[in-house]
Amino acid sequence: MGPCYRGLAMSDLVVARPEGLYCPPGGFFIDPWRPVDRAVITHAHADHARPGHAHYLASRAAEPLMHARLPGIRLQTLEYGETIHHDGVAVSLHPAGHVLGSAQIRIEHRGEVWVVSGDYFAAGEADGAKEHNRTCAPLEPVRCHSFVTESTFGLPIYRWAPQDEVFAEIDAWWAGNARNGRASVLFAYALGKAQRVLAGIASSIGPLIVHGAVDTITRAYRDAGIALPATRLVTEVDDPSLLRRCLVIAPPSAQRSPWLRRFGDLSDAFASGWMQVRGARRRRSVDRGFALSDHADWPGLLRVIAATGASRVIVTHGFEAAMVRWLGEHGYDAGAFATEYGDLDDDTA
Ligand SMILES: [Zn+2]
Ligand SMILES: [Zn+2]
Repeated sequence: MGPCYRGLAMSDLVVARPEGLYCPPGGFFIDPWRPVDRAVITHAHADHARPGHAHYLASRAAEPLMHARLPGIRLQTLEYGETIHHDGVAVSLHPAGHVLGSAQIRIEHRGEVWVVSGDYFAAGEADGAKEHNRTCAPLEPVRCHSFVTESTFGLPIYRWAPQDEVFAEIDAWWAGNARNGRASVLFAYALGKAQRVLAGIASSIGPLIVHGAVDTITRAYRDAGIALPATRLVTEVDDPSLLRRCLVIAPPSAQRSPWLRRFGDLSDAFASGWMQVRGARRRRSVDRGFALSDHADWPGLLRVIAATGASRVIVTHGFEAAMVRWLGEHGYDAGAFATEYGDLDDDTA
């Protein structure tokens, strides 16, 4: 590869355009933030799957969520690993472990392979099933020449505790509140995090109540065959004493809403990777913070990047500068794309 590599080489299979990340030989965008003709979507979170595109391509597993979030779209789906050809470009989707249906996009053209990660989940230095997100297919690293990676938690301070420890902490908090006759209200992003909590906690402690926004997505997960414990809406609870030992899962937007008043005396908490940082719980003014993320931690990011075998890495949304510096110091040809993806799916304030 020549010195023009860092610039806009003609062979680049993904470039940044005002509408979003674009594949020039294939004529399609990946998770575009402005309306386009052809959009390949990594996952159903609002900053990656936006309304207004003429055609959508996403994974088969993402289909119920795509329709729940974007009713009426023209959606084509692919099974993980299935390949379609578009203008001489081979496109396939591979599990990213982030939320149900989340996919890395593999693009091959004239022997060159690029992978765009979207958001992905991988925790720790070694791949172990105990740390897989149990509500979706685990991430599969895909060999490529160039890898476009997210960097939401791309700083060395972000290292997730084993997930069963976090779920045990949530259980202990909930059980303690139930003994004291108080409801436990856990704020968790409605798509992905809420279902991961449901799959991880000990559902025998008490009744599980979900906010309506969480219920819609939880139904889509169940429709896709993901086993989750029974939940009910608060309007389906006839015995008010149940509210004093329930766990309520609500989106962060419900934090100061009148909807919460019906639970009376309560303890509240936040489930987010940002809770690992000192002061985050206090800034959110909740009683407890649980550091539970659906994004890769620092060792997970580095492990996945290494497993792709890519020599070139382009960093997007998160701590781009820090990751580009680290990668450059460790022999990678590293750069960044400016994107309009956010980190709302991990509930920053
Ligand atoms: Zn996401
Ligand atoms: Zn993202």
